[in-house]
Amino acid sequence: MKNRDKILFGLPLAAGGLVILFAVLFLWQRRSFEQAYMRDAHNNIAQEAYLVALILQPLLDHGHIEEARKFCSDFQKDPLRLSLIRADGLVEADSSENPGFLGNHLDRHEVQGALAGKPTTVKRYSESLNQWMIYHALKLPTVQGDYVIRAAVTADQATRILRLAGNHMLLAMLLGGGMVFLLIYYIHRRVRRPLQSLQNTVAEIASGNLETRIDIPASGVVRELAGGVSHMAEQLKIQLAEVTSGRNAIEAILNAMSEAVLLFTDNGEVVKYNQTGARLFKLKESGAKFNLARSDIPELLPLAHRAFQSGEAFEKEFTLQRSRSAQTLFIKGRIIVQEGKPFLLLTITDLTNQRKLESFRSDFIANVSHELKTPLTCIIGATETIREENSLNAEQKNKLLEMLFEQSHRLNLLVQDILSLAAIEKKQLVPERDFATLSLPAMLAGAVQLCAEKAAARGISLHLTELVPLQLAGDCQLLEQAVSNLINNAILYSNSQVVDVSLTREQDSAVITVRDYGIGIAPEHQERIFERFYRVHKERSRQLGGTGLGLAIVKHVAQLHHGHAELQSTPGKGCAFRIILPLA
Ligand code: ADP
Repeated sequence: MKNRDKILFGLPLAAGGLVILFAVLFLWQRRSFEQAYMRDAHNNIAQEAYLVALILQPLLDHGHIEEARKFCSDFQKDPLRLSLIRADGLVEADSSENPGFLGNHLDRHEVQGALAGKPTTVKRYSESLNQWMIYHALKLPTVQGDYVIRAAVTADQATRILRLAGNHMLLAMLLGGGMVFLLIYYIHRRVRRPLQSLQNTVAEIASGNLETRIDIPASGVVRELAGGVSHMAEQLKIQLAEVTSGRNAIEAILNAMSEAVLLFTDNGEVVKYNQTGARLFKLKESGAKFNLARSDIPELLPLAHRAFQSGEAFEKEFTLQRSRSAQTLFIKGRIIVQEGKPFLLLTITDLTNQRKLESFRSDFIANVSHELKTPLTCIIGATETIREENSLNAEQKNKLLEMLFEQSHRLNLLVQDILSLAAIEKKQLVPERDFATLSLPAMLAGAVQLCAEKAAARGISLHLTELVPLQLAGDCQLLEQAVSNLINNAILYSNSQVVDVSLTREQDSAVITVRDYGIGIAPEHQERIFERFYRVHKERSRQLGGTGLGLAIVKHVAQLHHGHAELQSTPGKGCAFRIILPLA
């Protein structure tokens, strides 16, 4: 039993126990009282009987039976009753009854005892008197024969009083027991049960389940307490919700950041980090607690140590060597103190893309400058010769002018391709592209038409092999330019006699294929073929006036339509350039 139950039930149980103890004591005392009363009554009637025997002895010895009878019949000493009984059981005389109405008394226990020579006392219910009596009989041997003197006194009064008191005690016991039962029942219903329920609820709330409903009893001593606890739980819930929403907001902000944010203890163990930080150091995958000592940037550890010692912030750019590529990270570190403990807060910005873009831009500028340099050198050379050489004949001048025209044309083509590429890239930056729906077969027919003359001039057959009627939201002019770039390349570089163009559907995409059966492209070039200014046949491209941007334009046009461009080629067997465009 719990301590609380001991207190709750102990008191009424003790009270009940006391009532029962008193009752038992009384019953026990009643018995001794009754015994004392009986002993007293017995002594009295024994003495009376003896005295009567002394008086009757001479009368009976001398045969004055009539006097003896009279003495007995007239015996008036209330509440004593006197009987004179013969040895054969016949009642000679009785102080209360007519002996004629009394039956033979030989079977009476006290009479038998007395006749046997032993004065006998008996308590018995008297049928003739209708009450409890105490009888005492003793033998009176006379010259005339044996007689029995019997004295009797009523035992009813004491018995009645004691029985009445016993009944009262029994009633008190029952009432006491009943009251204890009711009290225990009340305590159980109104105190113990609500307390137990409240205790369980509080334990639930303490274990974090704040949604637990608190039962508030309609009345009783626990009602106020339960109300207080309920109010406290409500307040707790409100405060927790505020704290949680604040924490969630901070977490959401941290996780939305493109920078990695991580917090380390002075042992180097990470204690908090955002999603970018987790991705950067692969925290979730490793499972175990991440330590700064295990980072892929060994220079970071001494910097962190110094920061913890001096409390000074640091910032530095690091290059992280990954298995496939290098990552450029700009790391800022500063010490913050929380509850007296120092922590290192790292903010890491991934500069890889920015650096890539920068190097891409400078490469591009270098490439463009290089591409511009050759025609410009030619143009400058030709103009200088024309201006300074007076001895030039008409044919030589014509040749130089021809060259000037060719190089200017080449420059123009280059500038045009650079501008188209820049325009496509600009369009790619806009997320919502407002395209009109176009018919892809019509667009393909247009592109083929554009290249038909050039193909015919080189004796190359241009076939539209398959045209599935597909529609798409897109830029018709740019798509036509991309496809004609591919057909032109096939005409110029492949040495194939046939070029097939087709439009098919693969799952949810339209696929435009430009296939030739010529020299093909070696695998080592395939991966870079769509890069700007990448050429396989450098000299040939320059001779033919290629800018080196045709396939880059194809790739960007495909990307502008959320698709991509790819090449399948086997050297000696030809190339199949594919533009894959999602239809939805
Ligand atoms: P260019 O202006 O030089 O044509 P492109 O980007 O269009 O530039 O093509 C890049 C290079 O790819 C070409 O210089 C050429 O060497 C190679 N190439 C393109 N198409 C084919 C083809 N069908 N067969 C063989 N080589 C090709």
